[in-house]
Amino acid sequence: MSEKKILTTAAGIPVSDNQTSLTAGERGPTLLQDHYLLEKLAHFNRERIPERVVHAKATGAHGVFTVTNDITKYTKARLFSEVGKKTEMFGRFSTVAGEKGSADTVRDVRGFSLKFYTEEGNWDMVGNNTPVFFIRDAIKFPDFIHTQKREPQTNAPRDFAQWDFWSQVPEALHQVTILFSDRGIPMGIPYMNGYGSHTYSFINADNERFWVKFHFKTQQGIRCMPVDEAKKLAGECPDYHTIELFKAIERGDCPKWTLYVQIMPEKEAEEYRWNPFDLTKVWPHTDYPLIEVGVMELNRNPANYFAEVEQSAFSPANVVPGISFSPCKMLQARIFSYADAHRYRLGANFERLPINAPRAATVQNVYQRDGAMRFDDNGGADPNYEPNSMGGPVADPTYAEPPLRISGDADRYEQKRGVDDDYIQPGNLFRLMSPEQQERLVENISGSLGNVPKELQEKMIAHFRKTDENYGNGIARKLGLM
Ligand code: NDP
Repeated sequence: MSEKKILTTAAGIPVSDNQTSLTAGERGPTLLQDHYLLEKLAHFNRERIPERVVHAKATGAHGVFTVTNDITKYTKARLFSEVGKKTEMFGRFSTVAGEKGSADTVRDVRGFSLKFYTEEGNWDMVGNNTPVFFIRDAIKFPDFIHTQKREPQTNAPRDFAQWDFWSQVPEALHQVTILFSDRGIPMGIPYMNGYGSHTYSFINADNERFWVKFHFKTQQGIRCMPVDEAKKLAGECPDYHTIELFKAIERGDCPKWTLYVQIMPEKEAEEYRWNPFDLTKVWPHTDYPLIEVGVMELNRNPANYFAEVEQSAFSPANVVPGISFSPCKMLQARIFSYADAHRYRLGANFERLPINAPRAATVQNVYQRDGAMRFDDNGGADPNYEPNSMGGPVADPTYAEPPLRISGDADRYEQKRGVDDDYIQPGNLFRLMSPEQQERLVENISGSLGNVPKELQEKMIAHFRKTDENYGNGIARKLGLM
């Protein structure tokens, strides 16, 4: 028998009764003196932290990343330094639009966020299960997300807003095509790919820069959920993906992904046919083939959802030496907005929470002090300013990145490289689908587009025809407009 544990207040004071509150007489009112009751109710009122505006519904798991191929000619990042090297990591997988209690099996993009606890700090790969996004400029982001959320008057979901928005933002067509394809509803977390989506940069030991895209390809194979099954599960088992991932890891069926990169030499970005920093475009594999890097395995379930999944905080700003940013406008904005969201949700000390803190003790040497919930020794007696003469941490110029050449006038640029830019790649995707996949895509789009006014349907059909005549015509036929 284990030793009996005595229940205490949060201050550690033994509690005599957790079943009956203290009253003035058997039928009298409760006494304010029952501070244990007050503490219990007051803490309960404060159990929720602000929900993420996007990616609120999620599941997560711990794992390990193992290098299988030498890419040190492209990057000096220590986690890739030798074949066989293992790095602990944590992954969080989410839907985008739904609230924290919403169903898993809805048609939506999935968040694919990974934190690698490297010896030079945490690398967060904050991606999606799609290689592109709906927009290429973050100034449109809050508006776009509003179209995915509830209608302001009724608080009910709606189809109109997203089609109204997309009809005026043709750069969205590529992601819309992926969203309404079979891949818009994965069978489960193990059966989808993850993508860094943005272009990032690699920097090697000679301080040369390469542009890079990250692809985590599922080793379980892509599996998508038929629409009817997804609708049924959304009602009967709304946490289906969450439960299935947990059960799979519990029985030792640990999902794996192979990490590949596409590499573009720095100079080529200037002349490449596609703007390599446009988040609505991919780099075709024939131009930039996939290079294998390693394997990620999820092999341990969290012991506590709130501590590990809800409090996990990812930010694209967290890049380690050898990995860095690109001029992608969406990435540039996310460098700000993710950490900002976590400061709002979790407070200024969110990087000190166990799930977020770097694992190597030497890599949280900061002069930040104080702030709400600073629950460690707060730097003790160490100096809290720099420069100082007490041997406090100092910056190391050997970590400086090579300069990035910039030219031109400060202005607001649309960042297209051709008038037909937004139509070619969605058409390429449509053309690589089998006739059955095309049929389901057209059916899925028509199902949603059927709920909006005819003028809007016609506007969208004109856009789809520009990507591929058969694509637009298929939707027109389904909607009885041809
Ligand atoms: P490739 O034939 O070399 O690659 C096609 C890619 O499409 C594969 O990665 C495949 O993923 C993926 N794919 C197949 N069906 C779907 C779908 N319904 N939704 C999303 N992705 C799908 O061609 P390109 O590189 O020239 O690209 C052609 C089109 O493929 C692009 O316009 C883009 O829409 C899509 N694509 C391209 C990617 C890239 O990085 N080049 C990445 C993902 C999609 P898998 O092998 O895992 O089945």
